[in-house]
Amino acid sequence: MYKLSYKLSVRERVTAKCERHPRYNPEKDGRGGIKGACSTCFSLYDLHAARLALDAAVHQFVRRAGPWARPRESRRRKKGDALSPAEIPEVQP
Ligand SMILES: [Zn+2]
Repeated sequence: MYKLSYKLSVRERVTAKCERHPRYNPEKDGRGGIKGACSTCFSLYDLHAARLALDAAVHQFVRRAGPWARPRESRRRKKGDALSPAEIPEVQP
């Protein structure tokens, strides 16, 4: 049996630009748009790549965990309160 509980919350607002290449945008220009092996532009590109990898990992985790995931129970229900018929979640086939 594999059992896990996972909570992830990431919230960052980033505004970054290279002082030498202020027009460089890793989203549009990619790795090939980096001029002169600029380390700041590479950092911007790596940041963008990390964001894409994180999005893909979260998407894949949610997709794979979905069939086995249980809906969260509220604290009130854990104490033994019975569910009313309207509160019972529908099971997806
Ligand atoms: Zn640069």
